[in-house]
Amino acid sequence: MADNQTYMQYFDWYLDNNGLWWRHCAAKAEAMRRIGISGVWLPPAYKGMSQADVGYGVYDAYDLGEFDQKGTVRTKYGTKEEYLNAVETLQRNGVQVFADIVMNQRLGADETEDIRVVEVAENDRNHVIGGERTIRAWTRFLFPGRKGAYSKFTWDHTDFSGVDWDENEKRRGIFRMADKAWNAETDPENGNFDFLLGADVDTENPAVIQETEKWLIWYVRETGVNGLRLDAVKHIGFDFCRNLLQHVREETGKSLPAVGEYWSGDIGRLEHYLDCAHHEMALFDVPLHYHFYDASHGGGNYPMAQLLTDTLVQRQPSYAVTFVDNHDTEPGQSLQSFVDRWFKPLAYAVILLRRDGVPCVFYSDYFGLPPMKMDPCPNLPQMMAIRRDFAYGDQVDYFDNDNVVGWVRRGDEEHPGSGLAVVMSDGAGGVKHMEMGSRFAGAVFRDALNICTDAVTVGQDGWADFETSGGNVSVWLPEAAYDQINIEV
Ligand code: CA
Repeated sequence: MADNQTYMQYFDWYLDNNGLWWRHCAAKAEAMRRIGISGVWLPPAYKGMSQADVGYGVYDAYDLGEFDQKGTVRTKYGTKEEYLNAVETLQRNGVQVFADIVMNQRLGADETEDIRVVEVAENDRNHVIGGERTIRAWTRFLFPGRKGAYSKFTWDHTDFSGVDWDENEKRRGIFRMADKAWNAETDPENGNFDFLLGADVDTENPAVIQETEKWLIWYVRETGVNGLRLDAVKHIGFDFCRNLLQHVREETGKSLPAVGEYWSGDIGRLEHYLDCAHHEMALFDVPLHYHFYDASHGGGNYPMAQLLTDTLVQRQPSYAVTFVDNHDTEPGQSLQSFVDRWFKPLAYAVILLRRDGVPCVFYSDYFGLPPMKMDPCPNLPQMMAIRRDFAYGDQVDYFDNDNVVGWVRRGDEEHPGSGLAVVMSDGAGGVKHMEMGSRFAGAVFRDALNICTDAVTVGQDGWADFETSGGNVSVWLPEAAYDQINIEV
C-alpha cells in the first residue's frame, strides 16, 4: 500500500494584504513536507477586483500579478514571479500544488453596457419580478493593462447570463439577460442556483467554452501546477467542468487530479453531480463537514453511531476529499458553520486516521490565526504524523453506540510499527472493546494524545479495552510508535 496522502488548504480568508504569501509558501515548503503535507491547495492566483481580494472576485484570470490593473501589479499574495517560484519550490520539496480555479463569476468590469434584462426573486430565480427593462451593467472587461498578452479575448454582456447591479439605479438585484435562460443543469436551491454573484459567466456560450479551455491550458503550462480545486461547481452547468477537464488533460498530457467544491450537505446532490461529471473529479465531503458541525453543537447528544452515515467518504470513498473547516465556514463568512473547538480533534481523527478519502487540513486549524483569536487544533501535528507513519492496514469499525465509537487499523508490512486504535466520545467518555488481531496479542498500547495515561495490553485473543475521556479522542499506538510520535512532534 502506498503512503497516505494529506492535503492542506494553505490559506485563510483573513490573511494580511501584504503581498508576501507566495514568498511565505516557498519559505515553508520544506517544513510542509516534514509535517506530512503531500499537497497544498493555494488560493486563486489571479487579479481580483481589488488588491485585497481573496481571489474569488476574479477580474483577469491571465494576470497572475504581472500587469498594472485594478491599481496594482501584485495580488493580495504577491507577484507572478513569486507564485511560480512558490509552485516550483513546493514541488521540489515533494509537495504537490493544487490551483484554485474560479470560473463562475467575474467582477470589477472596466466599462458598463446598457442591456435588456428581467429581474428575478432572490429566493426563486425562476420567478420573474416585473417586466423586461434596460439596466446599465458592468459587463465590459477589456484588460487595458494587459494589452492583449496571452489572449486577445475581451468580455461583454453576451458572455454572461446575469448580473447583480444596476448602475443607473445604483441598486442590487438579480438580473437575468432577457434573451437567456439560467442553465437548467445547476443546483436547484433557490429554484435555480446558476447565479451566485457578480457577472455570472454563461458557460453555454461557445466563445466562453473555447476561451476557458484556452485559458486553463495556458494556466497549467505556465504554472506547472499538479492539480485543480474547482470553485463553486454547483453554480456551473454540470457538463462544463467535465468537458473542460477532459479537454485540458488531453491537450496537456497531465493527469490533473481535480476536486470540486459542490456546497451541499445533501449526499444525493453530490452523487448526482458526480454522475453528471462522469466522475472526472472528486468532491469535498460537505455532508461530513455538517455532521462534524452538528456533533460539535449537539451538547453531547449527537448520535455518534451515525457520524459517517450518508457522507461522501462512506458512499463513494474514491471520490471524497474530506475536511473539517475551510475559509468559507469560518466565523463571518458566507457558509459559516465552524466546527466547535472541543470537537475539532475528534473530527481530525476521523479524516486523518481512517482508510478512506484524502483529508484536507485547514491552515488555521493547524497554525491558528491570532488576529481572529483562532487557536490551533490540539494534537493536530501528532495526528498528521500518525497518519503518515502508522495509519495503515485493514480497518474494523465500532460505530455501534451513540456515545462512544471507535475503529482499529491493523497495520501492514510496508509500514513498520503501523496499526492503531481510535476511540472517541461526544459524551461522558468510556471504553471500547475492539479487536486488534492476534498479531498484536500481548502488545502494550499507549494513547499518543496522552488523554489517557495508563497503558493497555492486548489480550492473547487479540482484543483489548481502549478508553477515552469525556468529549475527547484517544489514539492508541503500540509502545514503540508511541515513543516515536512523542519524541518527534
Ligand atoms: Ca453560474
